[in-house]
Amino acid sequence: MPNYTYRGITLSIPENDSEYKGYFEAAAEGRLVVKKCADCGLLRGEPGPGCPWCTSLNWEWQQVSGKGTIYSYQVVAHTVIPSFRDLTPFAIVLVELDEQKGQPTEFDGLRITGNLVDADFNMEKEENVGIGKRVEAVFQPVEDGFMLPQWKLIDEPDQGFTWAHEVPAPASS
Ligand SMILES: [Zn+2]
Repeated sequence: MPNYTYRGITLSIPENDSEYKGYFEAAAEGRLVVKKCADCGLLRGEPGPGCPWCTSLNWEWQQVSGKGTIYSYQVVAHTVIPSFRDLTPFAIVLVELDEQKGQPTEFDGLRITGNLVDADFNMEKEENVGIGKRVEAVFQPVEDGFMLPQWKLIDEPDQGFTWAHEVPAPASS
């Protein structure tokens, strides 16, 4: 895959990259994929060549539904990335996908990160983010042949534990 530019940042995905190439090739087709261990069969969302549960280095890409629940999140108020400054405050969400919930132990799940965006791919308002809210993957067109997987709230009842921080009132002048 060639180099792409997202908000002034060069994203380089070499042809011999085994970590992200398949992920972004699928994303360009509007599909969300995760790694599936070829030995124990468990899915995982985090980068890395080894299975966190059985240490196997054998894996393949597996398509998932792209629906899940916000497991945790962080609101970025100050960013060190200059081209993200005008987006603050924005949320980085950790989404627990519907697949493999509570596996291999009750504390585990298939979780991946992204930004929470609205229907126009602008960052979702801070007051709308919360643990337990239902989301689905959306694919933000960045350049020809490159789409960035992001997350969007969907109209489904909250699930499991719910929590949201108090959004600070705007500073009065
Ligand atoms: Zn494994």
